[in-house]
Amino acid sequence: MNTVEKDQAYIANTYARFPVEIVHGAGSVAYGADGKEYIDMGAGIAVNTFGYADEAYNAAVKAQLDAFQHTSNLYYSAPAADLAEALAKKSGLKKVFFGNSGAEANECAIKTARKWGVEHKGEGAFNIVTLQGSFHGRTVTTLSATGQDVFHKHFDPFTGGFSYAPINDAAALEALVNEKTCAVMVEFVQGEGGVNPLDAAFVRKIFELKEKYDFLVIADEVQTGNGRTGHYFAYQAFGVLPDIVTTAKGLGGGLPIGACLFGEKTADVLGRGDHGSTFGGNPVVAAGALSIVKRIDDALLAEVAKKGEYIKSKLAGATGILGVTGMGLMLGVKTLADAKKVVMSCLEKGVLFLTAKDKIRLLPALNIPYALIDKAIDVLLESVKEAL
Ligand SMILES: *Cc1c(COP(=O)(O)O)cnc(C)c1O
Repeated sequence: MNTVEKDQAYIANTYARFPVEIVHGAGSVAYGADGKEYIDMGAGIAVNTFGYADEAYNAAVKAQLDAFQHTSNLYYSAPAADLAEALAKKSGLKKVFFGNSGAEANECAIKTARKWGVEHKGEGAFNIVTLQGSFHGRTVTTLSATGQDVFHKHFDPFTGGFSYAPINDAAALEALVNEKTCAVMVEFVQGEGGVNPLDAAFVRKIFELKEKYDFLVIADEVQTGNGRTGHYFAYQAFGVLPDIVTTAKGLGGGLPIGACLFGEKTADVLGRGDHGSTFGGNPVVAAGALSIVKRIDDALLAEVAKKGEYIKSKLAGATGILGVTGMGLMLGVKTLADAKKVVMSCLEKGVLFLTAKDKIRLLPALNIPYALIDKAIDVLLESVKEAL
């Protein structure tokens, strides 16, 4: 059996895979088993922050691998402590819990908000308002948090206590929050939901209501974090400070990690025995992540913002392009043509794009060179034209 046959025979059939088998990569180029080169505009869904086979990242990971690959959370280890300090500095928050995925980070945020709710506001203050079109993960509770009906089937009973406000609708949000609300949880730019940014007035309203009803704001920065939007975290573009921030994807640079960051109000909510993870804070993963965080400086963030604007300007007004949403290198392109059809046609021409709802989604490595951006956008525009 070849890989595709073996995969289909032995791996649970939960993914709609593209017909490409990746065998190795370099920077923003992936090499397929078919012998073809692909410009990777998805970066493993915003995970490979500096592309494939990045020298500095690989060196950090390998050095830690040779020192020790794992120890339990019953002992101290420097990579996790150093990474937590770096994340606290980048975020303006105080403490971190490490898990292994975005869903786990959000699970931790939800547990923390609920414990804070009952301790701070009293029995019954467990309600969390999230947004329609959001995506927060695949565990039973993070599926509940996800404001999309398609995810609320097959697995009943789901975790209760969630309600969903339409995005950027201040009045609807106001109608859903009350004294029993312990948190409002949002992506500042919805990823899976179609690359939908919150607008500034809506964000202001969330924080006004937070003052009035005393709830926590949780920022799900699993996809938007770690430089993706041209800010270290997307909430920084809005000049606000959430009480809890979750992040994952790009933080690990390719290895699995999730982090739940706690601000002033939430830093000491979880105590001994309240939460845990066998792999969380793994030293190899943390050493790689630390090398990533250190490189996301102001110069890189400015470059990410500039590349995003460059892509937008190349697409603006082109044949079949209806509009581009998003920030930095997290962009959604709405076209007159069918997004899936366009993405398949680009793949055949050697460029890997993603979709998000009815948009073509771009999440390339933050260091993608302009020459590859040019090639990828040319292929995109050509494919849109052909598909009209
Ligand atoms: C991907 C994603 C998640 C889930 O992350 P996993 O690592 O797949 O569990 C949660 N929230 C957002 C915003 C995401 O984009």
